[in-house]
Order: sequence, then C-alpha cells, then structure tokens
Amino acid sequence: METFPHGIHPKGNKERSANAAVSEFSTPEIVAVPLSQHAGKAAIAAVSKGDYVKVGQKLGEADGAISAAVFSSVSGEVTAIEKRPTATGHCEHVIIKNDGKYDEEKLAPLKNPAPEQIVRRIADCGIVGMGGAGFPTAVKLAPRDKVDTLIINAAECEPYLTCDYRILKEYPREFLLGARYIAAALGLENFFVGLEANKADAAELLEKTASDNGISAKTVLCHTKYPQGAEKQLIYAVTKRKVRVGKLPSNVGVIVCNVHTALSVFYAVEEGEKSYKRIVTVSGGGVKTPANFWIRTGTPVSTVLDACGGIGDDAVKLLIGGPMMGFAQSNGDISVTKTTSGILLLTADEVNSEQSGPCINCASCVKACPMKLMPVYIDACILSGDVSGAEKYGAMNCIECGSCAFVCPARRPLVQSMRLAKKKIREKGGKR
Ligand code: SF4
Ligand code: SF4
Repeated sequence: METFPHGIHPKGNKERSANAAVSEFSTPEIVAVPLSQHAGKAAIAAVSKGDYVKVGQKLGEADGAISAAVFSSVSGEVTAIEKRPTATGHCEHVIIKNDGKYDEEKLAPLKNPAPEQIVRRIADCGIVGMGGAGFPTAVKLAPRDKVDTLIINAAECEPYLTCDYRILKEYPREFLLGARYIAAALGLENFFVGLEANKADAAELLEKTASDNGISAKTVLCHTKYPQGAEKQLIYAVTKRKVRVGKLPSNVGVIVCNVHTALSVFYAVEEGEKSYKRIVTVSGGGVKTPANFWIRTGTPVSTVLDACGGIGDDAVKLLIGGPMMGFAQSNGDISVTKTTSGILLLTADEVNSEQSGPCINCASCVKACPMKLMPVYIDACILSGDVSGAEKYGAMNCIECGSCAFVCPARRPLVQSMRLAKKKIREKGGKR
C-alpha cells in the first residue's frame, strides 16, 4: 500500500455519517450567496437589488485570471447586495428571496467535446476545487508545463468528513465520467483515483464501474494516514514524484483534482449545470442527526444545524471543514459555499482545550511533519522575532496541516506560529 513519509493517525470518526445516504436539503426562504467562494479575487456583482434571478443565473462575474463566476442557487428576487462574514473573512453577498419555483437557466449539453470546450465549460459553470482550496479549475487545467498524470483525490483524510465517500458510493459513474472529461481536457486517456484504505469498499465499486463503462481509471489504495489527501503527499504516494518548495504539481507533470470537482464537471458538461450546490457532511458529537446533504450555496449554516437537531448544550466548537484544517466559527451566521465540505459541531470530549505550555523538546512535531520541517525551531524563531531563522528552517514549505500541533504534548499553537512565520517572511519579501 502506498503512502508518504511521517504524518499522523487521528481518530477518523467517520462512522457517524459514513452510512448516511445523500439527501436534498430543504432550501430556506432567504439565501445569502457570497461573491467570494474561491481562491483569488472575489467575483464582481452582475445583478442589482430588485432583479429577478433564476437558478444558475450569473450573480457575479469572475474578476481577472484567478477568480470564478458565482451563480444563483434559487429563483427569486434580489433584495440586497451587502457585505457579510464568511468562514474566513468578509465579502459581498447577494441576498435572494427564494420563490420556491427553482426556475433554472442551464447551458446546452456538450457532445464529444474537444479539450478546449471542456475547459471553457468548466470556467462558464464557475467550477472551483471543491476539496476546500477553491482554486478555479479551468485555470488549473491550463498549465504551462506538460502534464502526463491526473490524480483524482478521493483520500478524504480529514476526520468526520464523508461527503467524498458518499460520492464514490452513490455517484461512481457520474464522477468517473467527470474525471474522464478532466483527463480529456489535459489530453490524457487515463487517470488515477487515490483513496485511503478505509474506503476499500468504494475502491472495489469504482473498479467495477470503470470496467463496466470502459473508463481507464486505476485506483490506488493508500494508507489511512493524515494528511494523505494533501496534494504533495498524494502525488508522492501515487507517483513517487516530489514537488519541490515553491513549485506546483504541474512542474512534475501532475494535476490533482478533488472527487466532488469531477462530479461537478460531469453535470456541467453533460447537463449544462452551473456550480451552485454541493454535498456537505454535518457531523460531530454535538449534532443529533449526522447527515450528508446536497445543499444550495447561500444556505445559512444555522439553518442546516437547526435541521439536524440544533446546537445542543454540550457543543463547544463549530467548524467549517474538518477538525484539522477547518475554520472555527463563533456562530452559524455564514453561508454554505462551493468549498464547504463539512459543518461540524464538536463537544468538549472531542476538542483539546488544554492550555499550552513551554516546549519540552520531545521532537514529536518533527516526527509528525509530512513536509519534514522542524516546527519546534520555527516556533522558537517566531517567538524570538527571528524571521530569517524561520525562513531558513523552511516555514514557507508548511502546508498548515496541523499534524505538529496535534501531537504536541505541550499543546504549543504551532499552526498559528507557522502562519505567522509565513506572513512575516512574505512581508519582508521572502520566497513566495
Ligand atoms: S509544520 Fe506545517 S506542514 Fe509540518 S506538520 Fe506543522 S502544519 Fe503540517
Ligand atoms: S512536539 Fe511540542 S513539545 Fe515536542 S518538540 Fe515539538 S513543540 Fe516542543
């Protein structure tokens, strides 16, 4: 079985929602669709207050090369365009009063599309990386380097999350065909699907589905280890190629796309559907009824939690995304976006709230780091204001996976130190 050096083994906690079949979430009367749901610049509003919009109608135009269009998830009237909080900051939101009719504007399906038509369609439908990074997929599929390998990332290594697993189980044909369109856009005839060993049943189903449909896909079962789904770690596990500091996967001839991205590409090409909804895992000890829902973007997180039994007294932490790399929230007044893979409500037993203490030089963080960094030294440099030292110890290579903080017996806030180090290095004009 394949893997990468170092890494950690957090408790998976996937059993809570792994068998919850995907169901349609009932969209509320008001949605607030953020114009920034992706990496890069926010989209520019393409509608005004008072406009009537259909499902799939453009609400925001991509702003420049690294950006993505944003589409309406409901039909109804635009009642406001205003700045609201997101999981990671603030941006303009288009507020729509849902008329419940769901009149939809679609593009014509593509038949045997050429590679450039596929890339155009992906851009026209506003598809971005749905594993969490939100990088515009059309940009990713136009690399400067020659690419010979496509890996579909189905590792889903974050604890609790099961939305990708449900796609593998419930939409295997659709996702494999979507992946084949992505491969075709890159001029490739085959692709890999990288999974963790805890999804062996899905791997079997994929192999059968690929064979039944004449799709040339090779599944690669990797160790169940965090962060197996990080791009560089998955590339190493599948191809043994190493992506150097400051380089992109395409520099070693590889493109990695998430499972859900591939599913969205299928619907964009074969049904002309824009990207305005996604599957979200709702889980954690504080959630009465864990679930996997198709949720329309702009749906408030608080509405989703209410539908799953509300926020119980024992819930102490709300997270958007997984517990390792997700974003903690003070309340549910934010919207579901194209990159919301999970909504987690964790109890005190599931959260480590011990106070941090001084480093005891145990080197556990060094042994855990999948990027072979020495977090203990970078942390010490940042504490003493030695930004050059932090740069010398490779802080810019940190992928912010949280493995070091997870194993640290002194509960040092190592990820915050890494982020601070990177920020200070950038400010002084260091690498990247
Ligand atoms: S230093 Fe960065 S890459 Fe290494 S374990 Fe910590 S967060 Fe992950
Ligand atoms: S794991 Fe924590 S205590 Fe151990 S060396 Fe790293 S920072 Fe220090």
